Amino acid sequence: EYGPAPESNKEALAWLAQHGGSFGHFIGGAFTEPGTTFDVNDPSTGKLLAKVRDGSKADVDAAVAAARAALPAWKALAPHARARYLYALARGVQKHSRLLAVLESMDNGKSVRETRDIDVPLVARHFYHHAGWAQLLDTEFAGHEAIGVVGQIIPWNFPLLMLAWKIAPALAGGNTVVLKPAEFTPLSALAFAEIVREARLPAGVVNIVNGHGETGAAIVDHPDVDKIAFTGSTEVGRIIRKATAGSGKKLSLELGGKSPFIVYEDADLDSVVEGVVDAIWFNQGQVCCAGSRLLVQEGVAERLIAKLRARMEKLRMGSPLDKAIDMGAIVAPVQLERIRGLVQQGVDEGATMWQPSWACPTEGSFFPPTLFTGVQPSSTIAQIEIFGPVLVAMTFRTPEESVALANNTPFGLAASVWTESINLALDIAPKIKAGVVWVNSTNLFDAAAGFGGYRESGFGREGGREGMWEYVKRSSKPARVAKAAE
Ligand code: NAD
Repeated sequence: EYGPAPESNKEALAWLAQHGGSFGHFIGGAFTEPGTTFDVNDPSTGKLLAKVRDGSKADVDAAVAAARAALPAWKALAPHARARYLYALARGVQKHSRLLAVLESMDNGKSVRETRDIDVPLVARHFYHHAGWAQLLDTEFAGHEAIGVVGQIIPWNFPLLMLAWKIAPALAGGNTVVLKPAEFTPLSALAFAEIVREARLPAGVVNIVNGHGETGAAIVDHPDVDKIAFTGSTEVGRIIRKATAGSGKKLSLELGGKSPFIVYEDADLDSVVEGVVDAIWFNQGQVCCAGSRLLVQEGVAERLIAKLRARMEKLRMGSPLDKAIDMGAIVAPVQLERIRGLVQQGVDEGATMWQPSWACPTEGSFFPPTLFTGVQPSSTIAQIEIFGPVLVAMTFRTPEESVALANNTPFGLAASVWTESINLALDIAPKIKAGVVWVNSTNLFDAAAGFGGYRESGFGREGGREGMWEYVKRSSKPARVAKAAE
């Protein structure tokens, strides 16, 4: 359904070589010269993959001007015509799925099995889904219109998927876009820029500017940007909220989490163990909604921890391009150091750390799956998002206590509840402050379901009808459909 399975990195290496190993931005339908660049490395080897232009304020100005120029015609297109472009993007992603999966895996360090089976298919689905919304704009959002030029800033943990979550609804709503990928992982966005060209989108509808935080800040501060959509850390989210206050810009923030994974004593423990693997070792735990706090009912805690350790011994870590591995590399040395520091802090605060007996690859940025027990609910590792393969386990006695423990962080992004009792699950789920609560499952995403947080996890939703509301505003003109009905 999603193109051929990736077998080697030959195609991705050829693609990098075809660009001479260096890339500019994608502005007004064309690639700029590379100019002043920064290095993009393969985290599993530390070796250079490409050099990418570091966006200046002038680059951001050029991209915003291109998006502004493209806006009137794009916004005026009939909804079905915009839908055709979104369908073309979806098909382009499928056509190039192998290149995208391998490139993403090389750039981010995540396993190619994940990029092939999860990231890239979800990207295609997101564009298909939003092609539908583009078509329904006049009927479902009567009296509303595009917001205008949207500045979008994304993180490195799901580079292409976060791009899709941003670009698909924006285009469906008739907006034009200036997007900045994360500095660690810009390559799949550049490959996507080529798909934009192949799909013959009008020049300037999608612009991609590379760079670091300063480039992001230039987008946020730009007076001709109408909305900012940000996904990243709570810390940077706070800076952006302050920077946009009083500017009249619409804002949505998708931030961090410390999501509870709650196991009741009647749960099927073998399923729970596989759930934990998906919750905290998927993408090396670098997932905003990772089930990073394991809350276990006392009666089954010892048995579950024993099963979990046995499973951790069997996890396979290695080259992200090896289809048999479960865990790849951490995105960059600076993230590896951050994880090491927080794990040390956990040990210093008196929690018990456990890691499997096997050794990590010595080259590149790898960190083993790690389990903490004997953790105090108020300790640093129980409160702060580690954003790595580190699971923090705590126990509870009663369902009431589990809810209190689950809600005991500043975040509210996701949660998962494990029990064979549907009554218990339905009783607990609404009591947990989280944008999504999974029952006997975890880390499931669908383009039709709104995703987003409460409290310090941000505001705004991405996906489905809820997500579309983030990209339209009340129109000053009467709606076409409303007029026809009169
Ligand atoms: P980050 O906040 O460091 O960076 C995110 C992006 O913001 C990058 O593109 C970065 O260059 C840019 N940036 C940095 N400083 C900026 C500034 N002052 N102004 C404007 N832009 C700036 O986050 P990260 O380390 O890339 O990503 C990890 C974080 O993202 C985690 O906290 C994770 O939970 C969160 N995340 C949330 C979701 C969600 O949907 N809620 C999804 C994925 C990741």
